[in-house]
Amino acid sequence: MRSSERVETKLIHAGELRPRVAGAVNLPIFQSATFEYGGEDDYHDIRYIRLNNTPNHNVVGAKLAAIEGAESAIIAASGMAAISTTLLSILKKGDHILIQDCLYGGTHDFVTKDLPGFGIEYDFIDASDPQSWENIIRKETRAIYVETIANPLMGVPELASVVEFARSHKIVSIIDNTFASPINFRPAQMGFDLSLHSCTKYLNGHSDIVGGACIGKAELVKAVTRKLNHLGGTMDPHAAFLLHRGMKTLALRVRHQNESALKIARYLEKHVAIAKVNYPGLESHPAHARASKWFDGFGGMLSFEIKEKNVAVVDQFLKELQFPICAPSLGGVESLITRPATTSHLGLSSEDRAKIGISDALIRFSTGIEATEDLIEDFDQALKKGSLGNFCKQEDSLCS
Ligand code: PLP
Repeated sequence: MRSSERVETKLIHAGELRPRVAGAVNLPIFQSATFEYGGEDDYHDIRYIRLNNTPNHNVVGAKLAAIEGAESAIIAASGMAAISTTLLSILKKGDHILIQDCLYGGTHDFVTKDLPGFGIEYDFIDASDPQSWENIIRKETRAIYVETIANPLMGVPELASVVEFARSHKIVSIIDNTFASPINFRPAQMGFDLSLHSCTKYLNGHSDIVGGACIGKAELVKAVTRKLNHLGGTMDPHAAFLLHRGMKTLALRVRHQNESALKIARYLEKHVAIAKVNYPGLESHPAHARASKWFDGFGGMLSFEIKEKNVAVVDQFLKELQFPICAPSLGGVESLITRPATTSHLGLSSEDRAKIGISDALIRFSTGIEATEDLIEDFDQALKKGSLGNFCKQEDSLCS
């Protein structure tokens, strides 16, 4: 496949086996734990599901590398398997990592609760203030870690500065690209060493598997694969088959979600009962300028607060919604809505959440592929119910 091919074409054709297996248009599921010995002289080359090298693993890995314009990729059993294995392959006892302060709760928990047990230290950074990183870096620092669009406040770090900082200090730059997806941002093209994904989200897109990926420089991905082979966080071939199938529609889904989320964010921002909307596509977002410069779209994720801070009122509002399902996770075809304090960021203490600006009343919305108008009408009816309706009564013209 030529590297000039467009992403929609790569999603269908990149990495596919040629010749096709028995002429099958779709790659079959290789549900075989082990394969005939072929004279391999390196343990990691023996063909065995846990060694992450069935055709289902190889094809999805090659496709992921192609769509992010990277050298190599490996899939894992979950986003957290990819994140934890990557960090454990780069960091060893005595090392130190700089990590964005506001990010996915599971990553936060792994870094703060598990890494110290391995003798690995960390410092949180304000990812939008590169100057401040210089004061925190140590001679033991081995990596800097950020999220493209950070969960759940949708912050966008100074990404180009992260790459520059890592290069100048000879440390590894790692980015969790889950929220942006490779359709909106391709970290390798900016110079990131490694990009991580929860494939559970946009890449699979149907909320029916968990999966993860590590994409980037071949030498680093090889080290991560070897660590994954030892730790055993392997994706099952059937899940890899579903991920492969889901990825084929990634561009169509994400482009619709980009458009829909922007319309919903604009609608919410104007609504009289809404206190604040976090979405990088809005001019009011503090990183709107850099997001516009670097991203092909602003993604399907947004978060917001209603004017009522009482969580019982917030939860009642969520219940009034007809279409978004109140559930953790994101990036699927169905819209999902959640209060991060009760799900994705429940592992953080309420003080830690408050420190980084995640209030108990914050609502996170993952835009599905339903008709945008239906979602807006649904928000509109729910925002008129109960005490929220009083805001509309005061200023009727803004509640259409
Ligand atoms: N990274 C981000 C940004 C996430 O939101 C999540 C899960 O919500 C993960 C990683 C972890 O992925 P998984 O649940 O597939 O382990």
